[in-house]
Amino acid sequence: MNVVSTRGNVAATPIDAAIAAGLADDGGLFVPTELPRLDPAAFDGRDTLPEVAATLLAPFFAGSTLEPELAAMCDEALSFPTPLVEITEHTAILELFHGPTAAFKDIGARFLAACFRRMRARDGVDRTILVATSGDTGGAVADAFFEQPGFDVVILYPDGRVSPRQAHLLSCYGGNVRTFRVAGAFDDCQRLVKQAFSDAGLRRKRAITSANSISLGRLLPQMAYYAHSALHNFRATGSSLDYVVPTGNLGNALACLWARAIGLPIGDVVLATNSNRVLPEHLAGAPYEPRESVATLANAMDVGDPSNFERLRWLWPDDQERRRQVTAHAVPDAKIRTRIAAFWQQHGIALCPHTATAAEIRDTVLGNDGRRWCIVATAHPAKFESAVEPIVGATVQPPSNLERLLALPAAAEELPPDYAALRDRLTAAT
Ligand SMILES: *Cc1c(COP(=O)(O)O)cnc(C)c1O
Repeated sequence: MNVVSTRGNVAATPIDAAIAAGLADDGGLFVPTELPRLDPAAFDGRDTLPEVAATLLAPFFAGSTLEPELAAMCDEALSFPTPLVEITEHTAILELFHGPTAAFKDIGARFLAACFRRMRARDGVDRTILVATSGDTGGAVADAFFEQPGFDVVILYPDGRVSPRQAHLLSCYGGNVRTFRVAGAFDDCQRLVKQAFSDAGLRRKRAITSANSISLGRLLPQMAYYAHSALHNFRATGSSLDYVVPTGNLGNALACLWARAIGLPIGDVVLATNSNRVLPEHLAGAPYEPRESVATLANAMDVGDPSNFERLRWLWPDDQERRRQVTAHAVPDAKIRTRIAAFWQQHGIALCPHTATAAEIRDTVLGNDGRRWCIVATAHPAKFESAVEPIVGATVQPPSNLERLLALPAAAEELPPDYAALRDRLTAAT
């Protein structure tokens, strides 16, 4: 399948070239010429997450150089469980935090790395993966590319604005991973990365590549866990499953909406945001108005201009149609706290602050209509222990993969929020 830009000004591009490029040349986001259609029967006999992923992604990779490798890429990237855990008769939790860095971003980052490894085997080009992160992306990307021959990773994160454990994970790899803690906000990190991409001199010296959430190589594999969980539910009950998805840049939720549009048995999709209310306001009737983000407890969702909004608008260009297809609700920090406490009391389960936004919407907005809702759990609570532990009044034990990383020494380099400084550091290293 070829892909095109949401802005319509680039020629049809093979999907592997689009994954390598990240962003389309006209500044738009890559989207398929049209979404394929698959009904549940297309997945008969396909039970595991990698099997479902390979069937779901096959139409996207048909005819590309990566097509013969797709099944192996899915096996490699989706090698940990994404269980659907029953909480009550009407609520389940889709746990997406069993990967190496305990957040759902492991899935997209590992699939992207699986694509890039194969591209390098073909073209021999060494690449620098440059990432600005508000917390979870950097760790997932570092882990996915750690010790991969031909790749190095440069991470920029806002000093003091990620959780202590997130900071550790961003800084504990070493080797081919270099980490800068930037004296500034996430927006400063993103600006520095954009400046590096538009620096022709730097790009002559080394091939730099982005790994942010607009990459198709991250977005597409995220459809797999929705397909897998929805099929599991459909085979057991004969009905579709409704989802509440914690949302920041709209990558995770868009994957759910695309999976539904492709034909998977997915019902309503409700977005949960933190106090960054751009999407709830727009989907309730206001014009789309990007703005500065505000800092919240759910820091990985502190986004004032969701980067995947263009893809949502591509799917449903008409405002009214978009509002019929998807709704969104905002959850302020105070409600995040009370929901973490209530969930702990009712179910003995600690939620991360992001997941708590979805749990709050599930209970307060969606209520008891007899339907079964799936709360999407985007990170393990132990990653946000400084927020979660005082609320639940208990220690949250990190999973073993996280514990291993937390035991490693960690070091990040200080960087002023200034492009000349970044450029000096990057070129000094080559
Ligand atoms: C990135 C992230 C989100 C937001 O996902 P988007 O795809 O940006 O909407 C939510 N929760 C956690 C834990 C994250 O790391």
